[in-house]
Amino acid sequence: MCCLCSKWSITKHEIFGGRNRSNSIKYGLILPLCLNCHISHQNDKVFNDYYHRLVQELWERTYGSRENFIKIFGKNYLTYNKK
Ligand SMILES: [Zn+2]
Repeated sequence: MCCLCSKWSITKHEIFGGRNRSNSIKYGLILPLCLNCHISHQNDKVFNDYYHRLVQELWERTYGSRENFIKIFGKNYLTYNKK
């Protein structure tokens, strides 16, 4: 099912694209989207920023540390410091 509109999903959106596409696949950082939502959201900055931050936070909670995230993904999407 599409995670935005609940239509039957036929595409997968890797949350981190480009050179991190394979990391997205490796860690299962993939959103099910229908074709319409995929086309309208894949270049949507607000949508992508939201998921980049959300997923980094969850990833850090699951795999340990911000340092590891930055080492693997090469980027820090969270601008505030961890408490
Ligand atoms: Zn949809």
